[in-house]
Amino acid sequence: MASVLVVEDDQFVRSALIRHLTDAAHAVRSVGTALEALREVAHLRFDVVILDLGLPDLDGAEALKMLRGITDVPVIIATARDDEAEIVRLLNAGADDYLTKPFSVEHLSARIAAVLRRARAGGRDAPPETVLRVGGLTVDPLRRQAELDGRRLDLTRREFDLLAFLAARPGVVVPRKELLAEVWQQSYGDDQTIDVHLSWLRRKLGETAARPRYLHTLRGVGVKLEPPAADAPRGPGAEPPR
Ligand code: CA
Repeated sequence: MASVLVVEDDQFVRSALIRHLTDAAHAVRSVGTALEALREVAHLRFDVVILDLGLPDLDGAEALKMLRGITDVPVIIATARDDEAEIVRLLNAGADDYLTKPFSVEHLSARIAAVLRRARAGGRDAPPETVLRVGGLTVDPLRRQAELDGRRLDLTRREFDLLAFLAARPGVVVPRKELLAEVWQQSYGDDQTIDVHLSWLRRKLGETAARPRYLHTLRGVGVKLEPPAADAPRGPGAEPPR
């Protein structure tokens, strides 16, 4: 059971969410505006917030920013627009996950469970781990910091988890299914979730899918992280086959 804050202005969607979450034994509070949501999180402790992006008072990104200013409660974005750039921006701005409307109850429940597991696993009971090094990349799971060639990388929580998971098994192709299970703690497939985070992580590593250095996607197989070949000059000859 979790305490859930539903931020949704559509009365129909809101009622349905409350009913389903209550049926799933969660304690639910709900509000219809971003400002009410801010007031709620300032006064009460929630395990997770489900934030509709189309609210009457504040733009979704703005609402998320203000939420993040006062709480680090996990936030699942609910959006009607399947806009990858916008979703990536929000994940980068501190959202923990997202759902595209219309979503199923099962889907929502799975996301909530995953977010809660992650929040708990990231708590003080997490075992200490050693610093991982792959080429010029350094990943410190304990401090949750990563550097590339001595430069600190500004990663979201999920980007860091993804990078740390791959850095712990350099050169090994990790199947997408395993990434979903281990990093997202989901047992069903949603390749877009992985792709969104991978593309954003790539940008922060200063590389692209077409010209990978550390992150290599093997279509239909999985993803691997490995040091760039001899850190070679990145001329045309250094480009790996697609
Ligand atoms: Ca709305």
